[in-house]
Amino acid sequence: MLLCTGNYKLAMKVFEKIVDLQNELFLVRKEGKSVGLVPTMGALHEGHASLIRRSVKENDVTVVSVFLNPTQFNDKGDLERYPRNLKADCKLVEGCGAQYVFAPSVQEMYPEPDTRQFEFPPQSTVMEGAKRPGHFNGVCQVVSRLFYIVRPNRAYFGEKDWQQIAVVKRLVDYIGMGKTLKIVECPIVREDDGLAMSSRNSLLTKEERAIAPNIYRVLKESVEYAKSHTVEETHDKVVADINAVDGLEVEYFEIVDGNTLLDVKSWDDSDYVVGCITVYCGKTPIRLIDHIKYKA
Ligand code: AMP
Repeated sequence: MLLCTGNYKLAMKVFEKIVDLQNELFLVRKEGKSVGLVPTMGALHEGHASLIRRSVKENDVTVVSVFLNPTQFNDKGDLERYPRNLKADCKLVEGCGAQYVFAPSVQEMYPEPDTRQFEFPPQSTVMEGAKRPGHFNGVCQVVSRLFYIVRPNRAYFGEKDWQQIAVVKRLVDYIGMGKTLKIVECPIVREDDGLAMSSRNSLLTKEERAIAPNIYRVLKESVEYAKSHTVEETHDKVVADINAVDGLEVEYFEIVDGNTLLDVKSWDDSDYVVGCITVYCGKTPIRLIDHIKYKA
């Protein structure tokens, strides 16, 4: 067990080793207790906290994994820049009432390179799957490992990463855990000005942080616009309005069926229509994702 916080004394336990966590969870399960898992990459904020609190409410014990998974980063600069602060993460997790943090090293998670390949088209191949080759394969590698290690009853994922949930649901069935493990989808948490909370927001300069809320502003406005315009017109307006903001550049915006993630051509194509967007913000640039529901 690792006591990571210097002077600060934690009531909750922090594990670095798989075997230590599993020994603990063996005892938990022997008592018939349920286990919730919240997978994260650290630099935790209120968005993560909402998942953790929900798991604490719905399970006897909650494990929060804090692992910056290298295999899901296709851009090594993005990985190097990614914020890290285990000490602050532990405090936040404890404040939410969870019992365990699992913070393994890369060597602990991947004693050998993971050569498994996961593909769940169309969910894993469109949008983020097309723009970040290998990203969802890495997500599936780490999430499946976490599921095997923790064997949770429920695992919590945020709608912030809309596409990730669709991929993880396919993964759970694929690895044969569909009947014993429930994927719990949690709503997106936003800043007061509408910006979707994200660990990457801390990398924004003051100027970039000031323009970033335009993404959600335009998405929200487009819901009203969509009522009297076609899918194509709505798409084009969102892209044009965001690109009109100096410092923002849309990488993609797709209006899709919320389950298959395939493009819809008309509002009548589906009862469940979502717009998914990725925008580059500023000079670095920082990649921000968001979404809006048109029909739910
Ligand atoms: P990450 O640390 O970015 O991998 O995120 C870990 C989990 O927290 C994922 O399931 C995310 O979707 C979720 N999450 C991150 N940001 C938010 C947010 N603003 N609202 C809700 N869930 C979030």
